[in-house]
Amino acid sequence: MKINEDYSDIERQIKDLGQFLETCTDKNQYYSAASSFGILNYLYCLRYGNEFVSGEVADNITRKGMELYQEILENEKSVFLRNKQFHKDTFFENFFGPSSSFLKVCRGSYLKKMKSSEKTKLKTGEDKEILEAFFKESFPEGSDILGELLERGHLFKFFDEDDEFSSSNGFMTFNRCDNAANVFLKDDVCSLSSLVTLVHELGHVYDFSDSVRTFTDEEKARYALGPYAEVMSSYYQQLFLDYLINNGIRTKEATVAFFELYSSFFYNLDNALLLSLVSDDEYRLIVGSDFKKREVISLLRKSSLAEDYDFDDNYAWTVMSGTKEIGYSYGILLSNMLIDGSISKDDWFSLRAKEFDSSSLTSIGFSKDKANKCLVKKMDTFMKK
Ligand SMILES: [Zn+2]
Repeated sequence: MKINEDYSDIERQIKDLGQFLETCTDKNQYYSAASSFGILNYLYCLRYGNEFVSGEVADNITRKGMELYQEILENEKSVFLRNKQFHKDTFFENFFGPSSSFLKVCRGSYLKKMKSSEKTKLKTGEDKEILEAFFKESFPEGSDILGELLERGHLFKFFDEDDEFSSSNGFMTFNRCDNAANVFLKDDVCSLSSLVTLVHELGHVYDFSDSVRTFTDEEKARYALGPYAEVMSSYYQQLFLDYLINNGIRTKEATVAFFELYSSFFYNLDNALLLSLVSDDEYRLIVGSDFKKREVISLLRKSSLAEDYDFDDNYAWTVMSGTKEIGYSYGILLSNMLIDGSISKDDWFSLRAKEFDSSSLTSIGFSKDKANKCLVKKMDTFMKK
């Protein structure tokens, strides 16, 4: 599969977005375009060592974009805090509910041993063959989405020598001027793990392409920041892993990818739980401020809010975003329920644009117990294989 290393179309997009922003007066449209502008300019800089647009123009866009970002973020914080008890119960139930044997595998040496086999190169044409069969069975839209990305040359490689994005093997940014997505992958599509990343990103493209048709500008602006943005990507990623394992395709590598997904899920769930345990003022302070996990734990140790919680000091040096942890946690919980059929896809699609609210989640059949039941079922089925 051809991954694009030529950024001339990125230059074109940055130019177009810059022009659009010069005259844009709607704040939601401005925010959406400014975030695409910022991300593409930053990626361009990683590639060539300097930004494509710099100086006063870039500074103005960044400043105005950041102001709008803070405004949206403040609103997201308030919505979370209004539903804090609901989230705390959900995170608690699902972090302590699952089987300890599964957790052990996620954190154990078995995974490390298996990881060494992960990067086996796919044979020529094997990537396409695997994807086409999967699209046919579980993701019919995926074929067209990938076709369009390749045709536009929008499947890019990203260059990250200092590993700033080290936790991320890929991501997607939707350019709302173009109404088209750009997908960036760290590796060439030559191993199974890079195929898994690609399918996750295609899930984002599918979700966003649909949301730009049906959402208002305000809903579009907050969607990427909100907690629902990881559901469709996790959904297709999990369906893909199920497909590989059920059909005996690259089973060993697919198993590693499965455990990696769940290791990162439990890591995020632990962090999400911490965020739901701190006081409201501390939560407002932490979100978006580059707090380290260690600092959040020490805040909690000082207060009496979490006396009976045994803190996991793993990854204490990592930075907490305050929003991603919650998004990735709900991403897995909700996508599991979609796969299981305990939430219908239509109901989910009608909920997506709404605020992250306990009553709307409950209205489509979500509860902490049902989420936990699906999670345990998933792990049990997997462990049997
Ligand atoms: Zn994602």
